[in-house]
Amino acid sequence: MTTTPSRARRRAEEIAATHDECAQLAELRADTVAQYTALVREQLRLLGEDPDREGLQKTPERVAEAMRWLTRGYETCVADVVNGAVFEEAHESMILVRDIEIYSMCEHHMLPFFGKAHVAYIPDGKIIGLSKVARIVDVFARRLQVQERMTDQIADAVMHALEPHGVGVVIEAWHLCMMMRGVEKQNSKTVTSAVRGLFREDQRTREEFLMLVHGGHRGFE
Ligand SMILES: [Zn+2]
Repeated sequence: MTTTPSRARRRAEEIAATHDECAQLAELRADTVAQYTALVREQLRLLGEDPDREGLQKTPERVAEAMRWLTRGYETCVADVVNGAVFEEAHESMILVRDIEIYSMCEHHMLPFFGKAHVAYIPDGKIIGLSKVARIVDVFARRLQVQERMTDQIADAVMHALEPHGVGVVIEAWHLCMMMRGVEKQNSKTVTSAVRGLFREDQRTREEFLMLVHGGHRGFE
């Protein structure tokens, strides 16, 4: 897959974001909750609703809070997740964390997409706590996203954090923007992958990875 230099740069910046940068963004977002609430109230009005009717009175506030929570990835960074969780270890075989649940939102429609991520790497002296892999996934899933970019970001973040021999990421997801609107394709799943290092260069490694990912697969279907 090709990306333009500016996109690649943006990706690199997001992956290398520091604690101070995401803390700053968190502060900014906390300050805009009232503004966001007013915006949702206006949105209800534009939809033809009465924002003052009983059932909707608290909705703008709830939506503002929910949106902040659903996009909380902007307030987190890989550095915070990885900090103190990387260990020296001589293990040099593939480590796969399979079936990590993801809930994200597409940046084209701001509608959810959800599914599973499978993240594998071959360590080169450093490993990370397994639960941290899932948290790295969430740093990027909990933002407005396109699935392809998210897949790349996760692969690059693991490369950046652990400098392993290689990384492989597969994401399978269902997009509500496809299921609920437009083409209404209820059962089409989007599968994306990103491979780095040995996973890209060595066919046997890639095959082992895909076999482990698909072996005994149980998805949402
Ligand atoms: Zn969409």
